[in-house]
This record gives sequence, structure tokens and C-alpha cells, in this order.
Amino acid sequence: MEKTIIVSNRLPVTLSRKDNKVVFTPSPGGLATGLAGASKDMNSVWIGWAGFSPEGFQENIDEIRLNLEKQRLVPIFLNDEDVNQFYEGFSNTTLWPLFHSFPTYTSCHEEQWEVYQKVNEIFCEEVLKHAGEEDLIWIHDYHLLLLPGLIRKKLPKAKIAYFQHIPFPSYEIFRILPWRERILEGVTGADLIGFHTHDDVKHFLTSIQRILGMENKMGTVRAEERIFKVDAFPLGIDYYKYREMSMLKSTERQVGLHRKQFQDVKIILSIDRLDYTKGIPERLKGFDTFLEKNPEFREKVSLLMIVVPSREKVQLYKDLKMEIDEMVGNITSKYRTVNWTPVLYFYRSYPLQSLSAFYKLSDVALITPLRDGMNLVCKEYVASRHDESGVLILSEMAGAAKELSDALIINPYNVEECANAIKTALCMPLDEQKKKNV
Ligand code: UDP
Repeated sequence: MEKTIIVSNRLPVTLSRKDNKVVFTPSPGGLATGLAGASKDMNSVWIGWAGFSPEGFQENIDEIRLNLEKQRLVPIFLNDEDVNQFYEGFSNTTLWPLFHSFPTYTSCHEEQWEVYQKVNEIFCEEVLKHAGEEDLIWIHDYHLLLLPGLIRKKLPKAKIAYFQHIPFPSYEIFRILPWRERILEGVTGADLIGFHTHDDVKHFLTSIQRILGMENKMGTVRAEERIFKVDAFPLGIDYYKYREMSMLKSTERQVGLHRKQFQDVKIILSIDRLDYTKGIPERLKGFDTFLEKNPEFREKVSLLMIVVPSREKVQLYKDLKMEIDEMVGNITSKYRTVNWTPVLYFYRSYPLQSLSAFYKLSDVALITPLRDGMNLVCKEYVASRHDESGVLILSEMAGAAKELSDALIINPYNVEECANAIKTALCMPLDEQKKKNV
């Protein structure tokens, strides 16, 4: 029987060591959320990096494999040096900034590229242990751009899909990459190539036309003996899961406790992983400007800002964390009163039910990435507002802005526009809020 083989850099659970024991925790981010439904299919297998180096834990490996096997998960173990070059290096300091259109943050190192190729080959070997030509091999994201081509060489008739969860940049930015041909040859090994938005599709088609000379007709490309298709598939959420979670008695209780604490202070919510693409300093500037220009709102509104730790070993992220800490400190010391804190800042991650309570509690969601493939948090906010109240302020640079066009759409670089949108959101009559959210 045909299987679906999901392949992504990370498994939906990450392994780590604590007190000489192996601990399993859910992996952060939109990919794990987005694929949770697909992976429930009993006829699927998910292959990915375990987030864990086997060194010093060799005797536990069989036990770990067995434990994961029960959940139809297949771990790939990488040593620390390979993770450093492949994940922290090529994936996160070359591809991530370039694909998010931050060329000045992009570094290109030949030795990291070598390890990126090696790790894609390790993934290929693992996939070949599980896949036959009748199976659907569904590869996810930019860590594995070479994998479709590598599998195609070994299994010429395989059904391969590749989906990218981050944006694809314009040709003028993508062409910076010294290994651009090899990357595109890798991806175009797939039969179906998916992106979140039509803009990403357009950029990708331009790049394969300019770099590989591949022409397309309405997204269909004929390449030697094969045909492949490129299209937009905006990632959604499990709407009813968020809806129902927000209506649970236990969630309502949690919201009640928060409300009691905040009294009549309105809450503006923002939730992101720590990342320079998420526009957190720009958002804080927007909130600062809003309080500066509208003193009548002081003590009446707080920004509840959740920042989920991410890539903490990378210097750029350490610097960003310091910048955010400092900005929050400055805003606090500038406006805080005995009874009121302007920014409620939490640097940690929360389980689904706590997020659901925050979504339900918040009068406004302020989601302003400088560039984002999709952004699921904004969709989760709307789904969690079961009485249809609440206002979403959303960056035009998020893939989700193409779908959630009733939100207050802003340019996240425009601090004044952000400040004005906050005021508009806080003053919006309830019937208008409801009209926008249905
Ligand atoms: N998330 C979570 N706990 C947190 C904060 C966020 O589980 O404390 C989840 C959130 O519900 C969403 C995902 O992480 O499903 C973030 O996805 P998004 O597409 O917004 O951003 P990404 O991190 O993938 O760039």
C-alpha cells in the first residue's frame, strides 16, 4: 500500500538531554503545527533530525529509535560539527537571510556548503531505506533543497513533492548565491513544488528560467523527460482545534484569572520566535510612538509580547535579544506607573492552551514581520475569537496578508503607520470588528 513519507529537517519532537536522561519535547514553529494533521495518517512515516547528538548516548539509541517508531517517526542523528555547519551555518546564515531578502546578513562559506550537501545525502540514504517508487515522498523546507534531485537519481519514477515554508526571494536576490544552479537543480527534481504565495511562485519561476533556462506554461515546466508543476498552497491551521480550545471551560478560567489581574487594561498581543525577520524592534518602536502621541491611552493598554527563544547560539540572535531587552527596558522606564506596566514581555514558549487563553484575552493582535513565508499565529488568533471580536493588525510582508485582507494591513517598517493602526484598532467599534472577522 502506498505510504506518505514526510521529510523535514526536524521531527515534530525534539530530543535533548536533562540530568543524563533523554527528554522529548514538541518542536517549535509553524512547520510542526502545519503538518500535525497530515502526520496523523497511520500510513505515513516522518523522517527528520532528532535535534540530538548521539555522542556519549550510543547505548540509548536503539531505545530512542523504538520509542519514536511507535509514533511513526524516524530519527536522523547528526554529529555536533555537522549540525554546526549544516544547520547553524548554511541553513541559517546563508539560506534563511537570503530567502527572507536580507542579503546583508547572508554569509557564504564553501565548507558549510560541503556539509549541506553531505547532510542532504544522509537524508537521501535514510529516505531510500523507507521509500518505494509507489510512495509519495513529501519534502519540507529549505534545509533539504538538494534532496528532491538526489532521490530522483536513485528512484527515477518516485513521486516527489517539495514544499517551502519560507519565502522565495526575487531573482536579483537569489542570484547572489554562489551555488544557485546546484540548488535549483536539486529542487527541480520534484514533481510538485509548492510555496505559500503566488509571489514566491513567480520569483521561483523567474529564477529557474534565468538560471537554468527552464520555461514554464502556467507553472508547468517541461524538463527533459519530465514535467513538473510549481504552484501556491497557502498553509492553513486546524481551525476547529483552535476554536474549540478557546471555548473550553479550563481556557475560559485561565482568561478569567488574567482579566482579573489586568482589570480594564486592554491587551495587545504579539507572539513570535526570536528572529530578525519578525520585526520585533520595529514593533516596539511603533508601540512607543503610539504611547508618545496618545498619552490618553497610557495605563489603559499593555503590549503582551511573547518571544520564543530560537537559534540562541547565533551571534545575530544574541544581539537581537539584547536590543529587544534594552528597548523593553526603555519603554518601561519611560511610561511605567505604580499600577501599570506598558510591555509585558515573556521570553519563553507556551503550550497550546496558554496561547489559546492569550488569543482569547487580547483585544488586538499585532503581528508585524518584516518578511514571513506565511505566519500562523495571526490565523490562530482569528480562529480563537469565537465571538468574532478583536482586531488583527498584520504586516503586508507576511504571506498570510494575501488571505487575511480584512485585517488592518500595515508596512512594518513604517513606525507611524504602526502607531496609527494601534489607535484605530483600539477605537474600532465592536460591530466593525465582527464584520472583519467573520
Ligand atoms: N507557538 C507555540 N508556543 C509559543 C509560541 C508559538 O506553540 O509559545 C506556535 C504557534 O502557535 C504557531 C507556531 O508556533 O503555530 C509559529 O508559527 P508561525 O508560522 O507563526 O512562525 P514560525 O515560527 O514558523 O516562523
